[in-house]
Amino acid sequence: MENTKTQEKRDYRPVIGLEFHVHLATRTKMFCGCRVTYGEEPNTHTCPVCLGHPGALPVANERAIELGVMAGLALNCEVHPRAVYARKNYFYPDLPKGYQITQYDEPICTGGYIDVQTSEGPVRVGITRLHLEEDAAKNVHAGESGRMHGSTGSYIDYNRGGTPLMEIVTEPDIDSPEVARATANQLKAILQSVGVSECDMEKGQLRCDANVSVREPDGSFGTKTELKNMNSFRFVERGLARELERQTELLENAERVGQSTMHYDPATDEVHELRSKEFAHDYRYFPEPDLLPVELNEAWVREIKSRLPELPEEMRDRFVGQYGLSSYDAGVLTADRELAAYYEAVAAEVDPKQAANWITGDLQALLNEAGVEVSESRVTPEKMAGIVRLVSEGTVSRAAAKDLLGRVFESGDSPAEVVEREGLAQMGGDELGGVVDRVVSENPDEAERVRGGDKKVVGFLVGQVMKATRGSADGGRAREVLLEKLSR
Ligand code: ADP
Ligand code: ZN
Ligand code: MG
Repeated sequence: MENTKTQEKRDYRPVIGLEFHVHLATRTKMFCGCRVTYGEEPNTHTCPVCLGHPGALPVANERAIELGVMAGLALNCEVHPRAVYARKNYFYPDLPKGYQITQYDEPICTGGYIDVQTSEGPVRVGITRLHLEEDAAKNVHAGESGRMHGSTGSYIDYNRGGTPLMEIVTEPDIDSPEVARATANQLKAILQSVGVSECDMEKGQLRCDANVSVREPDGSFGTKTELKNMNSFRFVERGLARELERQTELLENAERVGQSTMHYDPATDEVHELRSKEFAHDYRYFPEPDLLPVELNEAWVREIKSRLPELPEEMRDRFVGQYGLSSYDAGVLTADRELAAYYEAVAAEVDPKQAANWITGDLQALLNEAGVEVSESRVTPEKMAGIVRLVSEGTVSRAAAKDLLGRVFESGDSPAEVVEREGLAQMGGDELGGVVDRVVSENPDEAERVRGGDKKVVGFLVGQVMKATRGSADGGRAREVLLEKLSR
């Protein structure tokens, strides 16, 4: 007899772990006094230490250590009394010393977690470790692609070399690309609210690598691949989805997933193999002889903890209590520090629940579609509050307010001006009655069917009224007026 078990479709459950590299918000570099800069003339902020001259001695940046401790505390990590710098040896032109100073077997923090809000409830993602290191210099590839492949030559800008960097590694606790994106967003919100980094992804201050595999039929982990260096969380989500498709397809065809490093190209929405990792590097880590271990005084750590600002989770709980929001809406609003500040500015002016509905709904949809940050939006908090107020006063209908928001979003004009110019003000009773009469006389068959008790065509007639009033009537009221007139 045939075994039906083998014919069951295999369940390719994703397993995802993330690694983040974060530039710490210090004035100077990790092991020298050169300023940390962005977008300046290449190779203007360098010295013998960050250029890797033999014999130049590193000195650890105390502020970077403090920021690392702040991040570790905010991520619920254990902060260790002692951390050891190590040399990670490899050759690359952006690494003039031939090694990176990092922390290896004694990192500054281990064993934390973040609670990530998802539409299906909170998910706890473990933080394996957090350690401090230095960034490499920046390779600049000349040519159209901006990447090494297809370039006509490469240059190196050592300004970035030695920038204080924090690496944060999560446990493989994430089971979908959506949760990966939410985790990344939550982490960013935490780091920003604590002030350890601005996390400006365009400047490369926050980069994400994603490790991904699908489970074996027995539930154990499969072979993982790594998607490298993504500077947008949207791409993390999309890249993971594509890579999961690729792995699933391989396994469906009884092929194996090779251990490799992948690149996701947002332009084509495709993943390519960058290099195979079957032969792992041997970095020959050893303790850095030129630096003393970090010794963290317990009182200092306690003092740092006492000055941590409000974390996103605490802010979320406050929003629930103070504004009466659902935990989900409060989570969405506090996942982004800018959005939270925007919301609080609007909620100070109008009904907080209405404000949350507009911001998490229509405004966010517009922002996402246009790829604009809330801080850059033409709909300032004052204008958003203005729109909410026009609805609550009954000046514009909800439907018209949606239109109004779109127009303010496009033009940046004041809501009152747009209402005036576009004639979006809600119709008074008489005017609405007139439009309903006209719609009824223009659609005699449908009207007759409603009179005969067929409620299904009411929606069509309401739609005609809305169309005739260009959305400036309230749908509910239009329906009432219609039914009243047709019941006579
Ligand atoms: P490596 O030795 O390749 O650096 P690690 O065990 O240090 O691997 O893990 C690196 C990252 O990969 C971590 O974020 C971890 O959560 C994640 N990870 C580990 N195993 C898997 C797996 N099978 N599938 C997906 N991610 C994984
Ligand atoms: Zn320097
Ligand atoms: Mg590792």
